[in-house]
Amino acid sequence: MFSKKQPQRSCIACRSLENWTDLIRTVLLGNEIKVDINHRMTGRGAWLHGKCFPVAIERKAFNRSFKYEGEIKFKELENYLKNLSN
Ligand SMILES: [Zn+2]
Repeated sequence: MFSKKQPQRSCIACRSLENWTDLIRTVLLGNEIKVDINHRMTGRGAWLHGKCFPVAIERKAFNRSFKYEGEIKFKELENYLKNLSN
C-alpha cells in the first residue's frame, strides 16, 4: 500500500524533526518576523514549535536561520502565539 509521507521540517530552536503541520512557518520581511499561516509566503522560511519561541530568541536562531545580523522584530509572532494560548 502506498502511504504518502508528510514532509518534515526541523524546528530552528530545538532542531527536532516534525511534520510541517506541527510547526509554525515564519518568514523575515525587512526586519520583521511574519507568521506564514497558510504556508504560502515566498522566500526563506524558518519553522519552529510555538513553545520553542523563547529558546529560539535565546539562541538567536532566527538570525542564524535567516542569516540576518541586525535586530529582528517579533511582534507579530508574539501576538500570534498569545492568541494560540488563549
Ligand atoms: Zn522546537
